[in-house]
Amino acid sequence: MANAGDGKRQVLKQVFGYDCFREGQETLIDAILDNRDALGIMPTGAGKSICYQVPALMKDGIALVISPLISLMKDQVGALLQSGVRAAYLNSSLTPAQHHAALRNARAGIYRMIYVAPERLETPGFQAFAESAPISMVCIDEAHCVSQWGQDFRPSYLGIRPFIESLPRRPAVCAFTATATPEVRADIIDLLGLQNPETVFTGFDRKNLYFEVRQPADKLGTLFLLLREMPDRSGIIYCSTRKNVDTVWEALCGRGYPAARYHAGMPDRERQENQELFLRDERSVMVATNAFGMGIDKSNVSFVIHYNMPKNLENYYQEAGRAGRDGQPASCILLYSGQDVITNQFLIEHGAENEELDEETRLLVQKRDREKLKAMTFYCHTRECLRGYILRYFGENPPPYCGNCGSCNQHYEEADITVDAQKILSLVKRSGERFGVKTVVDTLRGSKSEKIRRLHLDNQSTYGLMADISETRLREMIQFLILEGFLKISEGEYPLLQWGPHASELLSGGRTLAMKLLKQEAPCPVKAARGPEEQAEGDPALFARLRALRKRIADSQAVPAYVVFTDAALQDMCARLPKTPAELLQVSGVGRVKLERYGQPFLEEINRYIQQAAGYPG
Ligand code: ADP
Ligand code: ZN
Repeated sequence: MANAGDGKRQVLKQVFGYDCFREGQETLIDAILDNRDALGIMPTGAGKSICYQVPALMKDGIALVISPLISLMKDQVGALLQSGVRAAYLNSSLTPAQHHAALRNARAGIYRMIYVAPERLETPGFQAFAESAPISMVCIDEAHCVSQWGQDFRPSYLGIRPFIESLPRRPAVCAFTATATPEVRADIIDLLGLQNPETVFTGFDRKNLYFEVRQPADKLGTLFLLLREMPDRSGIIYCSTRKNVDTVWEALCGRGYPAARYHAGMPDRERQENQELFLRDERSVMVATNAFGMGIDKSNVSFVIHYNMPKNLENYYQEAGRAGRDGQPASCILLYSGQDVITNQFLIEHGAENEELDEETRLLVQKRDREKLKAMTFYCHTRECLRGYILRYFGENPPPYCGNCGSCNQHYEEADITVDAQKILSLVKRSGERFGVKTVVDTLRGSKSEKIRRLHLDNQSTYGLMADISETRLREMIQFLILEGFLKISEGEYPLLQWGPHASELLSGGRTLAMKLLKQEAPCPVKAARGPEEQAEGDPALFARLRALRKRIADSQAVPAYVVFTDAALQDMCARLPKTPAELLQVSGVGRVKLERYGQPFLEEINRYIQQAAGYPG
C-alpha cells in the first residue's frame, strides 16, 4: 500500500510536475487503482484530468477516455504528448487513413491512453479493437451529457453502457462532471452502469475566483480602468447583445487593445479565426456574447468581465467560471445597471426562445425565468458575501464570509463576539443540550411562544439576553461556532445543538473570539476594490519575458502556449528564480519530460534576467 502511495505521488511529480494532490484527487485515484468504479463531481479547474491520468499511467494496458468535444481532446492529448505520455485521439477530425493508423498503433500497444468520441465506440473498427485490446480502465469525461435533464444531452452517451458491457472483461469505470443536480447524478450512475462508485463531491466553490459587482455610471470608462489594472492578462468580456459587442470591441481597438470579438451575427470563418487568435494568445481580450465559450478550455483566462448582467445565475456562474481554470487567482466582475434588468425582462416577455411551447407551458416558463432574473438582480444588490450568495443559490451551505469578494472586502468588519458566544454556549449547556438551533435562537431572543414557555426556557438566565440581535445574525454566529468547533450538531434523528470539542476554552476565559460580520451602517460608496492578492511575488517584467519565450516555443510547435507551461508554472519560476535543472524541477508544473524539452531556454532566460538585474550587461 505504501508503494502504491509512493507510486502515484511519483507519477504526479515526474510526469506532471506537481508536489501534492488536490482535494478529492487521491480518493478517486485510489479507487480506480483498486479496480473500483468512481464518480468525481468537481468544479471546473479542480483538476479532474489528473484523477484518471495518474491511474492510467500506473495500470497495465490502455486507458480509454470518452470525451464529447474535439477541441478538448486535442488539447488534452497535446498536453500529454508534451509531458512525454504516448496518447492519441479518435474523432471525426481524423481522415480515414489517420484513423486506421491510430488504431493500428493502438493495437501495437504504442499508446497508454486513447481519447475517443462517443460516436466512435460503435464503429466496427473500434469494436474489433476493443474486443482484443487490454483495456485498463474506461473514463467518461463530461458525464452529465448522458442525462436528458442536463443542458448538454448527447444521445451517443447512451451507447457507452452497452459498449462497456460488450467488453470481454469489465474494467474499472470512472465518470467526471462539473455539474450535477441530484437527477443528473442518478442518471450518470444508472445510465452509465456505474457499480457502487466511490463518489467525491467537492462542492461548487471555486476558491481562486474573486467576485465583484460594480454599478458604474460610465461602464466603458470603468472597463478601461479594470483593464489597466490587469495588463497583459487574458480575459473575456461578455455583453448581452451583438450591438454591445461591436461597440465595446471598437472602443477597445480604438485604444490599441489587442481584442477579438465573437457573436452569432458574424460569418463563421471570422468567428473561427477570432477564437483561434484568442486561444493562441495573439489577442489577449475576447469581447463576445454568450455564444462564445462552449467547449473552450483555455486555462489561463484570468478575468471575466460581464458588461451586462446575464438573465440568471446559472448562466453567470458558468460564464464567470471560464476564468481561472489553471487554479491561479482570477477575477469575475459584473458591471451592473438598471437597464440590464429591463433588457432581460423584455427578452423574457417577448423572447423567441419559447415560441413553440403551448400557452400554459410558456407562461410557466416565463414565471420561472422571472424568478431567476430576480435572484440574479438581488446578486447585484446584495451586501452579503457574493460567493456565499451564489453557493446558497446552488443549494450549498457556505459560511457567511469568504474574504475574497467585493462584498467581504467592503461590507464586513471584524467583530469581537466572545461575550455573545459565551451566552450561546451557556444556554446550550444549561438547557441540557436537548434543543435544536431554532429553539436556542428563540430562547436567546426572548420569544414568547407557547413552546418556549411550555419547555420553561423562559426561566433560563440567558432568556432574552440577545433580543437586540437579529435572527439571521444569531444563526450566522451559531453556524460560525459550529465551523470553529465550539458547537456541534448531534447525529441522531433530531439534530440537536451541543457543545463542540473547543467549547470549554471559551468559557474558561482568557480567549477571545473574532468573527467577520456584515457592517451595520449604510453601504459605503463604491471604492476601487482590489483584485485578489497575487500568490507569487516575482517581477512582472520577468513574467512577461518568460511568456514571450513560451509563445515563441509554442508557435514553433503549433500548440497553445499553456501546453508548454501554464501561467502558474511561469509565476512560480519568477518567484523561485531557478538556476539549475534540479531547481527548475522544483517549480510547480515542471515534470521530467518538460524539463528536458524546454528547461534549457527557460533557465537561460532567467539567468540573463538575473545577470541584468545585478548590473551585468545582458
Ligand atoms: P478540470 O478538468 O477539473 O476543469 P483540469 O484537469 O483541466 O481541471 O485541471 C486544471 C488545472 O489544474 C490544470 O492546469 C492542471 O494541470 C492543474 N492541476 C491539476 N491537479 C493539480 C495538482 N495536484 N497540483 C497542481 N496543479 C494541478
Ligand atoms: Zn465573500
